[in-house]
Amino acid sequence: ADIDFSAFKDPKLARGLIETIHRLAPEHATLMEVCGTHTVAIARNGIRDLMPEGLRLASGPGCPVCVTCNRDIDTVIALARIPNVTITTFGDMTRVPGSTSSLLAEQAAGRSVEIVYSPLDALAFAKAHPEREVVFVGVGFETTTPLVAMAIKRAKAMGLSNFTVFAAHKNMPGALELLVGDPTLELDALILPGHVSTIIGAEPYRFLAEKYGIPGVITGFEPVDVLQGIAMLVRQLHEGRAEIEIAYARGVMPEGNPVALAAIDEVFETCTATWRGLGDIPGSGYRIRDEFANFDAVRRFEPDVEPTRDPKGCRCGDVLRARIAPNECPLFRTVCTPENPVGPCMVSSEGSCAAYYRYY
Ligand code: SF4
Repeated sequence: ADIDFSAFKDPKLARGLIETIHRLAPEHATLMEVCGTHTVAIARNGIRDLMPEGLRLASGPGCPVCVTCNRDIDTVIALARIPNVTITTFGDMTRVPGSTSSLLAEQAAGRSVEIVYSPLDALAFAKAHPEREVVFVGVGFETTTPLVAMAIKRAKAMGLSNFTVFAAHKNMPGALELLVGDPTLELDALILPGHVSTIIGAEPYRFLAEKYGIPGVITGFEPVDVLQGIAMLVRQLHEGRAEIEIAYARGVMPEGNPVALAAIDEVFETCTATWRGLGDIPGSGYRIRDEFANFDAVRRFEPDVEPTRDPKGCRCGDVLRARIAPNECPLFRTVCTPENPVGPCMVSSEGSCAAYYRYY
């Protein structure tokens, strides 16, 4: 209640931070913003253009829709084709092209697809439609995983037998380890996500500093928050330190949110997940535990998934690994647009390609 928000829109503060960044930035450095919301904040506020010449801001794999692999999209489409199934999902997912279809195309062909804003909405839908088999598409990082865990627990407590979840949740640390270990990227520091960190805290990132010598700063999403995060990172680089610091102190506790973490742990166990562009990463996915197997859509319906094909010419994999910027994809803006997206990075409002399309 005693937080002073007035500073966040403060141009003087912003100017001071930009000066600090210019004064302390090394001659050459690459900082990666991990989270899609940061990607949008950086693009919308023109922060990339405010940086010193040698300071590159690269976008990472933090858009959950974008990192969902085609096999998972195809599996959801196969579930949608099962008679009597209603797919409930966040809006972005309906437009992501799978190998030969999308949820939107399936809906146009008469299949039942409902857009919801939370897994609890999906649960309410299932309760109100006992004649339907309601499948919720669980995609996202630790900001959404606890809500899905709670929905599954509630469904069990209610004895609701027509609600299941397709679980494609992921966590970030394994993906970050892969990226900092990639010698072609030469990452120097990480701008870490505020939202996810309110749940997981700072601890899961600690190994990045200790094992790889990569500094990280957890920060929020206002323009000044992002500048503050970058200023703290260039200061660490300048002083030769590698630590995980928290600039988003109003939201993040070092140990995270124990209640949300306990809910995840009760319902899910970690497993290998396949990421678009990054491949299989051990421990980076969440599978529904055997005790809750009745609520696992794949185990209940065993969908018949078509052979997977990646969208032709789409470079989302390289965009998600920061190997290319979105406007270096040959299809960017010519063939691929938000109205006619070829890959998920152009579909999702948090996708790098969509952010570039809108703001560059
Ligand atoms: Fe894929 Fe379109 Fe992005 Fe190219 S611009 S990487 S085709 S989403």
